Amino acid sequence: MHNYVAPKELLKDKVILVTGAGDGIGKEAALSFAKLGATIVLLGRSQEKLDDVYDLIESSGGPQPAIVPLNLESAVEQEYQQLANTIEQEFGRLDGLLLNAAILGSITPIENYPVEEWTKVMQVNVNSQFAITKALLPLLKQAEAGSVIFTTSSVGRKGRAHWGAYGVSKFAVEGLMQTLADELENTCSVRVNCINPGATRTNMRGSAFPAEDPAKVCRPNEMLGLYHFLMGKDSLDIHGQSLDAQPK
Ligand code: NAP
Repeated sequence: MHNYVAPKELLKDKVILVTGAGDGIGKEAALSFAKLGATIVLLGRSQEKLDDVYDLIESSGGPQPAIVPLNLESAVEQEYQQLANTIEQEFGRLDGLLLNAAILGSITPIENYPVEEWTKVMQVNVNSQFAITKALLPLLKQAEAGSVIFTTSSVGRKGRAHWGAYGVSKFAVEGLMQTLADELENTCSVRVNCINPGATRTNMRGSAFPAEDPAKVCRPNEMLGLYHFLMGKDSLDIHGQSLDAQPK
């Protein structure tokens, strides 16, 4: 699945929301989904970055995207409901949801971890993912074959010293995915999975590993095969799994 090569127009006529679409993996995923024909709802906290992605999609001839500036740290339930209403009014459908946005927080022992920062990481990386998924699920259930992709990490599968709230938040994301997948099993056409991107050259990776040579790390546009696979029609029977975007 890492080497999946998406057929041209795999995502034609699909509407896909990507969180954290202004930078890093989310930006490249959004650009590539648009190249495959999808209309992208670009959600992020920096209007300027979202505008740039919007322009890139438009100038490459992709379907006109939409921009949703939303800070996942402070957004409340009403805003997620409003988002669902707007998508329904504007597009009449939602086929895919890529929950990609996250923050790293401190890399420090639990004993020293600032409580306020812990809460912030959990808010962005877990609580907001639950709230947005809850609000968008009714729309996704109306799709012929909806796909929800959560974003995990290797530190969310086996605890690792000093990864603090980030690691624990990814354990929670895996739990959220599994719980939702079990609830949706045999009940509707929405499939739910996790992707672990693996080491990828982004701002987050640079913050986590400042001494690493970035040239030795894969670029975000080089590891998107699994993202395409899970969003498209070739993965209809893949549900409740946590998969790696890069070979080990
Ligand atoms: P990134 O370059 O830091 O990008 C994260 C994106 O999320 C940015 O667009 C950021 O917006 C957005 N974001 C952060 N806080 C937000 C908030 N409060 N509200 C709305 N948007 C917010 O990170 P990345 O490396 O692409 O990571 C993408 C996903 O992959 C994350 O879930 C991460 O945990 C996971 N991951 C990455 C790696 C890796 O090696 N890169 C490895 C394993 C897992 P701004 O641009 O405005 O900051």
